[in-house]
This record gives sequence, C-alpha cells and structure tokens, in this order.
Amino acid sequence: MNSFLAKNYNRRKIAFKKGKGSFLYATNGKKYLDFVQGIAVNSLGHANPYLVRAIKKQANKVWHVSNAFIIPEGETLAKRLTQKTFADYVIFQNSGTEATEAAIKVARKYFYSKGKRNKNRILCIKNSFHGRTIAAIFASGSRKMTEGFGPKVPGFDHIEFRKFKPRFPNIRSKIKKNTAAIMVETIMGEGGIKPIPDKCLKYLRKICNEKKILLILDEVQCGIGRSGDFFAFEKSKVKPDIVPIAKGIGGGFPLGAVLMTKKVAKSMGPGSHGSTFGGNPLAMSVGNAVLDQITKKGFLNNLKKISKYFHNELNQIKKDFPKLIKEVRGVGLLIGLQLFNNQKKFIQKLEDNKLLTIKAAENVIRILPPLNVKKNEIDISLKIIRKVCKEIKI
Ligand SMILES: *Cc1c(COP(=O)(O)O)cnc(C)c1O
Repeated sequence: MNSFLAKNYNRRKIAFKKGKGSFLYATNGKKYLDFVQGIAVNSLGHANPYLVRAIKKQANKVWHVSNAFIIPEGETLAKRLTQKTFADYVIFQNSGTEATEAAIKVARKYFYSKGKRNKNRILCIKNSFHGRTIAAIFASGSRKMTEGFGPKVPGFDHIEFRKFKPRFPNIRSKIKKNTAAIMVETIMGEGGIKPIPDKCLKYLRKICNEKKILLILDEVQCGIGRSGDFFAFEKSKVKPDIVPIAKGIGGGFPLGAVLMTKKVAKSMGPGSHGSTFGGNPLAMSVGNAVLDQITKKGFLNNLKKISKYFHNELNQIKKDFPKLIKEVRGVGLLIGLQLFNNQKKFIQKLEDNKLLTIKAAENVIRILPPLNVKKNEIDISLKIIRKVCKEIKI
C-alpha cells in the first residue's frame, strides 16, 4: 500500500473497522481480543455504550468554546477530580506530554513566584518516558528519543532507577541548589512496566520534604484506576505535589490534565498557561462519563480481584515455561510479561492467535485490557498465551 503518512511509526499490518468492549474487528475479517486498548487509553473498552451516549449528547449541544469563558462541564470534572484525590486544582490539556510539560511549568513557576528565580531544574529517571515534546524527551533523557532533536534542552538532571539496592544511587548528590522538583512515573510504562516500590516513593517524598522541593508523579499511563487504585501512588500513602494524567481519563478521547495542590497552584495566575483545545466541553463530558463508571461502587475492587486472578495465572504460566518467561510485572491491569529473549516473535504469534498486545522496553510484552474486562476474556487470553508458549518453547 502506498502511504502518504510519514514513516515515524512502525505499524503492524492490520486495520480495524469497529470495536466492541474488549474486542476489535479487523478489515481482514478476524476478531481480535484487544489487550492494547490504544495503550492503556480505552479504559472502558471500545464503543462503550455509556461513553457513546455521553459524547453524542454533548455533540448535539456544544463542542468547543474558548477558555475565555466558563466551561461548566470542565468545572464539574475538575471538582470531581479534586474531591477524589490529593489535588486542589486542575488544568486541562489534550495529551500526556502536554500534561507533563504543564507539570514542569507549574513546578518552575512556584519557585519563581517565591523569588527563587534560578530554582528550575527537574530531576528525572534516566530512560523514563514523559512524552515526545522537545522538553519531555530531554526530561526522559533517552538517547533514542533525543537523537537528532538537539540542541539539548537545559534544566533536566538524571538519576538511575535500579532493580537492586540502592535503587536510586547517589540521589542526594544529584539534588542541587537549583533543583525544583523530582519527576518520576509511579510505574514506568514504556520502560518495561517497572513500579517504583512504595518504600522508594516514600523515600522520594522524604527527600523532597527535606530539600523543600516538589514531587511530580507522572500517572499518565498508570493512573485513573489502571493499577486497581485511582492513582498508583495511593497505596504508598505518599502525597505528591503535582500529577500529570491523560490516557485513561478520556476513555479514548484525547484528554490530559495536570492536578496540583493549592500551594503550587497559587503561582499559576491568569495568563501563566493556556491551551486552545484543553478543557473543551466534548472532552470534559467524556471525562465525566469515564469517572461515572470508574468511581462506581465496587468497580475498582472488582478490578483488583480480577487482576489478581490474572497475575496468578500468568505466574503459573511462567512456572510452566521458566526458560521463556523471566518475570510477570506490574500492578492491576498494567501488566508486563518479561521474556528472556526479544519479544517481537511472541507478540506476532499472539496476534496470529487473535490476541493483541504491545511491547515495552526490557523484552516486555505489555498486557493492557480494558478496566472492565470480563473473567472469561482473561481466560481466552491465558489460553492463547499458553498456546504460544508451547509453540515457541526453547
Ligand atoms: C503515554 C505517556 C506520556 C505521553 O502521553 P501522550 O498522550 O502520548 O503525549 C507521558 N507520560 C507517560 C508516563 C506515558 O505513559
């Protein structure tokens, strides 16, 4: 096929005509179990009737107005997000990378408004992922993402996150007089589904308190219920200062936001930040509808139960194929199957058997069902994974 799209994606040779819940119907006539879900985006599956109703209803009223006016749907969504979380204020964006950039801006403005004009450096984990804008790639500090996009954006320092103790070697020496914030993903997604253990999150909070700097937890991929808690950091009891979100909150509609405490929000006065599309009524209505479902009584408890079952069964498969699968990673429905070898062939074989998954770093296969996945759908996927293990067995 002659494509006029630039070649910046390595696309798989498959296209879809429609979706329903956990399933996608391809133009090749096959029905796939979709455990990619737009990379943790379609939190309630494809064409969820409740979301379809919400977007249609709003589409008949008003799609977009400028942020120069009050947007009631956004007022509602912001109020609900703050009532539910650590946050006191919200700024809406359209994507994850915009949300992480806004988080960086908020951190810098906070110290600027306190007269600390040079306190603007952000300390991040080397090879993390915060999106693809110019600042976000240099925040991530990955050579692969930054190569060719210089000059290097200043203001970012990097620490290592290691599997073994000390997990953050020399972190104290990396915090300089001008460090404003530490920014990490609570669970590193693209990096291979690596959760930062609760103890380490607590340790980061402690250092931030000591040094009087801010803690930014990027929950773009792991937030909004995916971990089984509304935010992945909740079970650690750590309170961040700033949290960018996106992916799951829109249920498939582009929507991002930065959540923050009153302390840091104070410096974001009129004109300090803005977005043409951010917070438009259409996105806000979908966001509200997603929250309606995820905050329903029992929804996350059910997710925890079903994901525990999924993890247990995957660990059983790992036991049966100890030379193939190295580790079952992740929390809730943010799952990584780490192989000893390159995962490309395995992912292709899963696709051949009509299960869609996606890779992450470190030979990891990411498994991202919708948050309302049913047990029998998980069982279908387990059967396929086991079958492929047998076929690929080394
Ligand atoms: C996906 C992701 C982003 C970037 O989101 P986009 O919507 O692609 O800009 C940022 N941070 C994390 C942790 C992500 O997983």
